[in-house]
Amino acid sequence: MSQSNPFVSLAAPGVADLKPYVPGKPLSELERELGVTNSIKLASNENPLGCSEAAKEAMRGEIGEASRYPDGGGFALRAALAAKHGVKASQITLGNGSNDILDIIARVFLFAGRESLFSQYAFAVYPISSQAVGATLMVAPARDYGHDLDAMAGMVNDNTGVVWIANPNNPTGTHLTGNGLHDFIAALPKSVIVVVDEAYIEYAAAGHPDASQWLEAFPNLIVTRTFSKAYGLASLRVGYSLSHPDVADLLNRVRHPFNVNAMAQAAALAALGDQAFIERSIELNSAGMRQLTEGFAAMGLAHIPSAGNFVTVDLGRSATEVDQALLREGCITRPVANYGMPNHLRVSIGLEAENARLLAALKKVLV
Ligand SMILES: *Cc1c(COP(=O)(O)O)cnc(C)c1O
Repeated sequence: MSQSNPFVSLAAPGVADLKPYVPGKPLSELERELGVTNSIKLASNENPLGCSEAAKEAMRGEIGEASRYPDGGGFALRAALAAKHGVKASQITLGNGSNDILDIIARVFLFAGRESLFSQYAFAVYPISSQAVGATLMVAPARDYGHDLDAMAGMVNDNTGVVWIANPNNPTGTHLTGNGLHDFIAALPKSVIVVVDEAYIEYAAAGHPDASQWLEAFPNLIVTRTFSKAYGLASLRVGYSLSHPDVADLLNRVRHPFNVNAMAQAAALAALGDQAFIERSIELNSAGMRQLTEGFAAMGLAHIPSAGNFVTVDLGRSATEVDQALLREGCITRPVANYGMPNHLRVSIGLEAENARLLAALKKVLV
C-alpha cells in the first residue's frame, strides 16, 4: 500500500502511524513458502497438548446450532466463571480473546489527551489499542527486563487513564512476586484504571499474586484472563475480564453484542470443568522449561527466567538470521526485535520431542 495514497491521510491520527501486531507465522505459511514439511511451531505460546477432550466434545455439540446467534450475554460461561472466582456474574465481561477486552478497555477509558502507561517490553497490544484511540503512550523503563513499579508509579499523573501490567509478562516471562503489585495498585489514584493481564497465570508457581482476589479493595482494577494459553483454545478466541460491576457495565456498552461465538462459549465452559488437563499442561510445561533452559545453558546461551509457557533466550547476536535459519530447519520461533530486543528469541515450550528438535536445530544454525 503506497503512503502517497490520499486516503491514507484520512485515517484517525493514531491509526495513521500504527504498526500492526506481528503474529507468529502459521505452519501452513512456512511450509508453503519454504517447501519444508513436518515443521514445528513454538512461536505463539500455544498449549502443545491441544485442549481438553471435554472441550472438543462440547464444540461438536454446537455444530448443529451454527445458524443461530450465540447467547450474547454468555449466561452459562459467565455463571461458571463467577463461581470459579467467587465474584458476581455482573463482574465478568467476555471477550473475543482477552485481546478484545484490552481493546474495549482502551476504547472506554482512553482518548486524545489521556495517557496510557505500560513498561518497556510490555505486550504489544497495549500500545496498539491505546494509540488507535488517540491516547498518548507512556513507556516506563524496565528493570532486568521486568516491570519497575517505582518507575511506573513515578510516571502517573493527572492525565493517566490506564496502566497496563501483564503478570507474568510477555515477551519476557518476568513476573512480579510478593506484595509489590498489590501495594502499587493501592497507592494509585482511584481515577486511574489498572489492568492486570493474567494470560499466563496458570503457569506461574504457587504464591504468585492473583490480582482477581483484590477486586473488592480496588474498584479501578480490571483483571484479564484467557482460554488461549493453558486451556489450549487459542483458535476459538475467548477471554474475559473481572472488574467492579460498574466497570463491567461500561465495557459492555462498547462490546460487540455477539463477540464470543457459541462453540467458543461451550468449549470454554467444558474446559473449566477439566482441571486435570490444566494440571497435565503445567507439568509438561515445567519439564519442557527445564529441558529448554538446560539446553540453552549447554550452548552457552543466557535466558530470561520465565514464569510463563515460553522462554526468551539471548543469542548474543542478531536473532534475525538465526530465525531465518531455524525456519529453513522447519522451526518457527518468535524474534522479538519489534519489542526492542534484537538479540533475543522467544521460544514457546513444546512437547519433549519438539523442544529437542528446536535445540538441535539451534545448535546446528549457531555454529
Ligand atoms: C497471549 C496473550 C494474551 C491473550 O490473547 P488472547 O488470545 O486474545 O486471549 C493477552 N495478554 C498477553 C500478555 C498475552 O501474551
